[in-house]
Amino acid sequence: MTDTDSHPQVLVVGSANTDLVVRTGRLPSPGETVLGGTFFSAQGGKGANQAVAAARAGAPVTFVGRIGSDDFGRETLAALARDGIGTEYVIPDPDLPTGVAFILVDENGENTIVVASGANGALSPVQLESSAAAFDRAAICLLQLETPLETVAHAVDLAGEHRVPVVLNPAPAQALPPEVLEGTFLITPNESEAEILTGIRPQSEGQAQRAAEALLNRGVQAVAITLGSRGALLVAEGRSTLIPAPRVDATDTTAAGDAFNGALAASLCRSASLEEAVAFANCAGALAVTQQGAQPSLPRRDEIDRLRASLGA
Ligand code: ADP
Repeated sequence: MTDTDSHPQVLVVGSANTDLVVRTGRLPSPGETVLGGTFFSAQGGKGANQAVAAARAGAPVTFVGRIGSDDFGRETLAALARDGIGTEYVIPDPDLPTGVAFILVDENGENTIVVASGANGALSPVQLESSAAAFDRAAICLLQLETPLETVAHAVDLAGEHRVPVVLNPAPAQALPPEVLEGTFLITPNESEAEILTGIRPQSEGQAQRAAEALLNRGVQAVAITLGSRGALLVAEGRSTLIPAPRVDATDTTAAGDAFNGALAASLCRSASLEEAVAFANCAGALAVTQQGAQPSLPRRDEIDRLRASLGA
């Protein structure tokens, strides 16, 4: 057995994309061609980003996803493996291409994004059935909403059968069926996702608490609403705690939420309390905003522990 087989794991079921990014002086109008951009590509997709975040935050991780039988898919697998993530349940689709996000960024940082989900859209409940062994080894199941909702719902069911707590990052936000919320241990919306799910905009701490209570009333056991530089409001076990994020110089907020969720799952996998896991996740999110890009900015456990220790924790 390898190390990843024998330890409790974070199981991530979700999307993997290749981000194709062009930086340009200005965004084109419809029908217009703008010359002079610079191009780079990077691994992305919330599922893969959060799997990498959890692995760098120190957890053994298995990823369940769907890629194309193409070069982007092979690069996705190689990148996941470089971070030590188990990829035996990442299946190449015979027909559909690997998901891609076309991202245009202008000189003010304004962006326009089109996502072609490709193979992510074919991650099916049937594929999850053949990944059932991964649920046996899981201590935490981490989900997002970039794959079909019926697959998310099935992952929640399987996790329930295997008594694995579900952490659901409801991004991108959409209406959720009652059984998904009832099967979720901890839901982690950001401010706009909390507003879409509850109709309450969590601008003040009181409003965030009301949004969290609305989610608790719909069956989740715990809520952590991420509040950007303010940290996160944790509402669980009859208590509400605003857990502040460390102060940092933010240069690029891309993937802050992915860093937060991956680190949160990694910490829970090590049996940390919810308060401790959110405080650790705040440090991971804060470190991610000090670096450019998505996966390159995801911090490692030693950096997160150092920042946490510097706060006198
Ligand atoms: P998302 O990236 O999904 O919009 P948030 O903006 O709420 O989510 O960020 C997620 C987490 O990342 C926050 O709860 C916090 O821990 C951390 N974070 C985000 N922005 C900052 C910041 N400017 N300074 C410190 N920490 C931050």
